[in-house]
Order: sequence, then C-alpha cells, then structure tokens
Amino acid sequence: MSKARFITGIYNYCDYWCERCAFTQRCRNYSSGRAERRQARPAAADALPDTDATNAAFWESLAEQLVEVSMVSNSEPEAFDVGIEDLEAADEPDDAWLARDERRRQEQARHPLVILSRDYRMQVHAWLKTADGDLKAVARDLLEEAGNRFGTEDVAEQARDIGELIEVVAWYHTLIATKLGQAVHGLLECNDVAGPHASIIAESRRSDANGSGKVALAGIERSIAAWLKLRGILPAQEDLILAMLSLLDRLRRRIYVDLPDSVTFLRPGFDGEDVGLFD
Ligand code: SF4
Repeated sequence: MSKARFITGIYNYCDYWCERCAFTQRCRNYSSGRAERRQARPAAADALPDTDATNAAFWESLAEQLVEVSMVSNSEPEAFDVGIEDLEAADEPDDAWLARDERRRQEQARHPLVILSRDYRMQVHAWLKTADGDLKAVARDLLEEAGNRFGTEDVAEQARDIGELIEVVAWYHTLIATKLGQAVHGLLECNDVAGPHASIIAESRRSDANGSGKVALAGIERSIAAWLKLRGILPAQEDLILAMLSLLDRLRRRIYVDLPDSVTFLRPGFDGEDVGLFD
C-alpha cells in the first residue's frame, strides 16, 4: 500500500510555523491554505518554494547544538499578577458555572508553568527590544572582518544565521506560554468533569494537555539550542542569555513534574507516528 499523502491531525500539535515546517507537503491544512492562496493570487502561490528538505536540515543542524544544560536553580518563581486567555463561556452560564470558571482562572494564573512561561515571554520580549544595539555591533564587526579575510558571501551567511536564531527565539517565546496555558487549562478541566462519560472526557483532555505540553517542550529545546548559539555570538549578552537558559531549564523541569506524559506523547508526523492512512 502506498503511503498516504497527508498525516492525519499533524496540525493539531504543531507550532504553526509553516514557513519553517518540514511537513508542509504532508499537511492538509497547509495544502488547503495553499489552494486558497492559489485561487486568490495564482502567481504568488506558484512562486512558493517547497522548502521541507531545507527546513528539516535547519532543525537538524540546530539540534546538533543542543547540549544538556543543567543549571540548578532551587528558587521558586515569584508570584505576580498573571492574566489568562478568556475561557469559552457556556451559552447560558449559571452561578455555579461562573464560580467554577473563576476558580479555574485563579488556579491557572497561580500555576508555576503559567507563571514561568509568562516570565520567560516578558523577558524575551524586553530582550528583543533592547538587544538591537549589540546586534548592530555584531553586524559592524562582520562588515569590518569582510574587509579583511571574509568574502561578502561569508558575511551575508553569518548575518543570515544570526537572523535565523533570533527568529527561533522570537517565534517560540510566545508559543511556549500559549501552549502551556492551554495545557494547564486542560489539566484543570480534567478535574471538573462529571456524568456518565466523565472518565473518557477527562482522558481526552489529559491527552490534549500532554500534546500541548509536548509542543511547548519542543519549543523550549529549540529555544535553548538557539540561545546557546547566540551566547557565542553575543558575548556582551552573556548574563542575560544565561538567565534565559536558566528560566527555560526550570520550565522544562517543571513540565516533567506537571505533565510527565507529555515527554512520551507522540505528535503525528513530528514524533514519527505517521497515521495518515485515511486522510
Ligand atoms: S503541520 Fe506544519 S505546515 Fe501544517 S499547519 Fe503546522 S506548521 Fe503549518
């Protein structure tokens, strides 16, 4: 039997970064979007290159940089006011539903995964705004070196490498917080189900929470790899980068505690489970 083109549900546990995805050719969502783009702007859609192989090579090369970072930090994260996404409301909320919803919001806001990932998101956001000066200095150095021993192609390549690493950090700093927010929400909802199918519903929510946790874990590992490379490029940012790495390491270890099954969760396609027989 020939392999089905599409992998069922691959888009349910992906990072939505289609431009960098190594599975665009096997994703029905991507394919549908491309067909729509082709209808709207035929020339633009046809101009899109198939980049799966290049993207796969990019992630493999980044993964090679990933060494186990073991930074010990026993301090608990400081609690601060953390907002949460609006939860879906029932059509006609009653008092009991509203009270339960409010309790869940508060529990979610206090959860260490939510606090840590929000903290990381804010720190990266601030870094992206302020690191500009250092990045320009690196660009200047590259240009000076180009005058000496590098050709302009080398400079362009190094500048592109740096840009790609920043893109990785920038993409995942929001995604990690979003996915962990979803995972915690799912975990809390597992405790709030009743009725004849409660155990099935709870299991489905737990599995989905683990899937979100796995996406966050993958984002954390890619971010760690990108920071490790940036550390070598931006020595003036050493302290800040180490703080980011420490925060990511704490986040990763906290996922092992709160979502232990996310580690073994198999994302269709990304973790080798190709179940696309019927898609
Ligand atoms: S699986 Fe890849 S191509 Fe499909 S939606 Fe996710 S990131 Fe985009």
